[in-house]
Amino acid sequence: MNISSKLPQVGTTIFTVMSKLAQESGAINLSQGFPNFDCDKELKKLVNQYMRKGLNQYAPMAGVPELRKAISSKLSTSYNIEVESNDVAITAGGTQALYNAITALIRPSDEVIIIEPAYDSYKPVIQLCGGIARSYEIEGPDYKIDWNSLSRLVTAKTKMIIINNPHNPIGKILQESDLVELQRIVSGTDIIVLSDEVYEHIVFDEAEHWSVLRFPELRNRSIVVYSFGKTFHITGWKMGYAVAPPHLMKEFLKVHQFNVFSVNTPAQYALADYLQEEEHYLSLGRFFQEKRDLFQDVMKKSKLIPISSEGTYFQLYDYSAISDEPDTEFAKRLTTEYGVAAIPVSVFYSTKRDDKVIRLCFAKKDTTLKKAGKLLSKI
Ligand code: PMP
Ligand code: GLN
Repeated sequence: MNISSKLPQVGTTIFTVMSKLAQESGAINLSQGFPNFDCDKELKKLVNQYMRKGLNQYAPMAGVPELRKAISSKLSTSYNIEVESNDVAITAGGTQALYNAITALIRPSDEVIIIEPAYDSYKPVIQLCGGIARSYEIEGPDYKIDWNSLSRLVTAKTKMIIINNPHNPIGKILQESDLVELQRIVSGTDIIVLSDEVYEHIVFDEAEHWSVLRFPELRNRSIVVYSFGKTFHITGWKMGYAVAPPHLMKEFLKVHQFNVFSVNTPAQYALADYLQEEEHYLSLGRFFQEKRDLFQDVMKKSKLIPISSEGTYFQLYDYSAISDEPDTEFAKRLTTEYGVAAIPVSVFYSTKRDDKVIRLCFAKKDTTLKKAGKLLSKI
């Protein structure tokens, strides 16, 4: 049968490829971004409790009211903003929220500006909708966004700008001034902002997270995406949510109800309870900062040069003092010969790059980070 692929360039994601290679080679897996430690047992107890109680049928389409309300309080605690529960929808992870948002709003030949390196799920979804991804590339080691250059990509067809803050894979955060610039660019247009903030609580060195929700003008044209997987060490539960004003949420939910309809009921009740304790999310930055610092410490003797990580649980390393190989080759060899799996950063760009930069994930047990540091320091 002749099938004309809708996504001819898409293969298996780098995360699956590298995790598989790590497993086959018995390497320490610092590639795919997930913790190798368990979540809080209280959270597991809560899900169990709600399952035993019999809350095992469909949740309301946009999410259980208790959880939407708890998220609205969380947003008030975190950012001192008022968000109606109706402006919150519970999704199957950040990934599904991104999918809903793009599919609900992008039509054939609409243009979407993405900032590369970009998380790998944005572009294929834009393409599935017949949209055109316009890439704005940022360069290491600073990876600063020059908003004036970015604004040159805006045309009459620009429908959406996708930002990711804190940023995967580069580990940088946006400052208040960046958001002001973004606001300036979209002001007076119909451009929608899709803001991927799944690492909102993983920011370091006393920095603040500048959510688009803190800027009323931006908030009115934004869909913001969050992930419980990242915040509570439960990436396997695939639980997340989106926040949007009524006119955007209405469209978002039209896709949501036919994409998944609703998501895991007992997990929603459990998360609603778990969110009541603010420390559960407010302590996350400190927790991962210790891991970042430990990893940097055990990597001090390595020839890999760190590029500062301001947020997320990723740290970039420049390997140009070790090898001339392209990053895809180097990441493979690091896995098979040196026993540590990494992610090559070039795969997050649309153009061919020769940056010699890899991404390592430090959401791992301290023992794992020490072991990896030892292996990497031998190269
Ligand atoms: N956006 C970014 C930037 C991510 O790194 C990830 C991966 N966790 C997601 C979205 C998807 O989140 P989830 O695992 O909740 O689907
Ligand atoms: N977000 C994770 C990462 O960046 C991976 C998610 C996935 O495997 N799809 O590594």
